[in-house]
Amino acid sequence: MRIATYRTLQRIEIGVLSQDGSSITPFDLPPARAEKGLLAVLEADQALLPLRSVDHPHRIGSVELLAPIPRPRRNIICIGKNYHEHVKEIAAQGFDTTGGGATPPDAPIVFSKFPDCVVGPGASILHDKRITQQLDYEAELAVIIGRKGRAISVGDAMDHVWGYTIINDVTARDVQKAHKQWLLGKSQDSFCPMGPIAVTRDLLNLADTPIRLWVNDELRQDGNTHLMMFSVPELIATISAGITLYPGDVIATGTPAGVGAGFDPPRFLKAGDKVRIEIPPIGVLENTVENWRR
Ligand code: MG
Repeated sequence: MRIATYRTLQRIEIGVLSQDGSSITPFDLPPARAEKGLLAVLEADQALLPLRSVDHPHRIGSVELLAPIPRPRRNIICIGKNYHEHVKEIAAQGFDTTGGGATPPDAPIVFSKFPDCVVGPGASILHDKRITQQLDYEAELAVIIGRKGRAISVGDAMDHVWGYTIINDVTARDVQKAHKQWLLGKSQDSFCPMGPIAVTRDLLNLADTPIRLWVNDELRQDGNTHLMMFSVPELIATISAGITLYPGDVIATGTPAGVGAGFDPPRFLKAGDKVRIEIPPIGVLENTVENWRR
């Protein structure tokens, strides 16, 4: 199942994409619940109250797609350094902030982004030049939790996964470096483009899914989920060891090689740059960089 949160001329709705992707059939939800996007569907699943659909699909071109979860309930949980080639490129260019250099971490590096920095497909990534001169992109597969759990074993972990979406873990490298902890560098307003839709876990093969990112039609990142050093079940087991995971929690699983900071010299983003991430079968998440204006 492929689910989209979107805005019509009247309101925000959430619905199911048709087989050919040309239309969306909305769930029958009051506006206050529909505005939660996918969270409303997960809540209904938890309550064992399946949602009914309304029988008037929208053409996909007639609506504005939003982030599947426009405002997550709590911070996006993010994994740093989960692809070895990325660990090496960051170290080679002097952007390592962990002291680990080019050596793969022994345990997953976990940080978070504020829910407020989530924006949808097509929204601008805002570049505030007073804050950063090193604006960077990171294409990532994001896991959406569907079932509550604590101390989830590796073997049980996939039962807690509802599905997936795409996240661009936008990063201000200079801010990340200056403050040691990554929250400021990773949570600036607009720094978490998400979408374009969410797909259930049966639709994506974690053993072989390409993750690609282009800046202005130039391919920069060309990774694959099979290159993750810590697998999705291992990440879920690590995070949930002492922290209860809830439906709607989002885990960004790390970025493959090819970030702007990894080039020599580095190639950071500037106003007008189009950043396009493609992860099949989720689709294409595209956002344009725009200078911050008061
Ligand atoms: Mg990242």
